[in-house]
Amino acid sequence: MGWRLDIAEANEEYLTESDLWRLTQQFLMNATYTTTYKHILMKSLLECTTEIDETGKIDFLEISKHVAKIYWNLVITNELRQVNIKTGESSIEKVLKNFQMKYSIPSEWNFENLSESQQSELSKNINIVYKKYVYGSFYSSFNGTIYSFNKKEEWVKLVPIYIVFFEKYKRILMNVTNYQLSIFLEKYNSSELMKSILSKVEFVSARQSLGEFKKILLQHGQTNCFYCRKPLKKIHVDHFIPWSYTQNDVLWNFVLSCPSCNSSKNNRIAEIEFLYNLIDRNKKLTHTTYMKNYTEKKLNYTYEYAIQNGFNIWTPNKKL
Ligand SMILES: [Zn+2]
Repeated sequence: MGWRLDIAEANEEYLTESDLWRLTQQFLMNATYTTTYKHILMKSLLECTTEIDETGKIDFLEISKHVAKIYWNLVITNELRQVNIKTGESSIEKVLKNFQMKYSIPSEWNFENLSESQQSELSKNINIVYKKYVYGSFYSSFNGTIYSFNKKEEWVKLVPIYIVFFEKYKRILMNVTNYQLSIFLEKYNSSELMKSILSKVEFVSARQSLGEFKKILLQHGQTNCFYCRKPLKKIHVDHFIPWSYTQNDVLWNFVLSCPSCNSSKNNRIAEIEFLYNLIDRNKKLTHTTYMKNYTEKKLNYTYEYAIQNGFNIWTPNKKL
């Protein structure tokens, strides 16, 4: 039984891209789910690729922040049940609801409304459940090929070829994970809650406010639109590489722009000269704690992979 394992090394077999597709599809299609635990771990790992280096090591607590955010927004904010029985709750749902009661948090609150210390306490509680039940069984679902893990030291180390695979096909993998998750939720929730379920699941991790990032960038002297260079009056915070690709909010991927550049760019990616400008801009930010895990190389390959994932190139209208 995979979930009982405390330490495991990734199998060192040689895997082709077809193998990775086969293993991932087996995971997504064949697993018998009693809860949504594994879907959410998959979603969190896809989000985490923006934060890890190429060695692939990531602490349980880092992953738990993503898991906690997704679950809070699904279970508390959207009231969606997460187990395959009509009555009763999963351990995660109990953790969330006890936490909500302990601090009398209103159900409408999104995860980002919780204070930093609450977010971290909740992530720790979630980590206990994930450590016990999920990391080992997720490992087994991929025949032990996806990562090594150590429950005592609390980390997973993704196999490098999986990191590349995740980056290269992130959009498709995220879409199919969201789809499978929605199918599961549909079975065990009332039809009323299922209204636009796929878009709820798709945006469950998206932040509602980017104000925090705007403040930091303004403090670091960005006073003109990053794209057209006009002085900023109304300020938009733009994901340089679209959020729908990164599925994560990291300072190094944010720029300030005027409303017209922001809306004209939409879900596209700016041409390469702006990547070079962003690399320069990020050099000025490297001393902030928000830049943890940032490297120029990471920005470069995230840009390349976003293009491979089908995002179109956008050129600002310089006559704006
Ligand atoms: Zn502009």
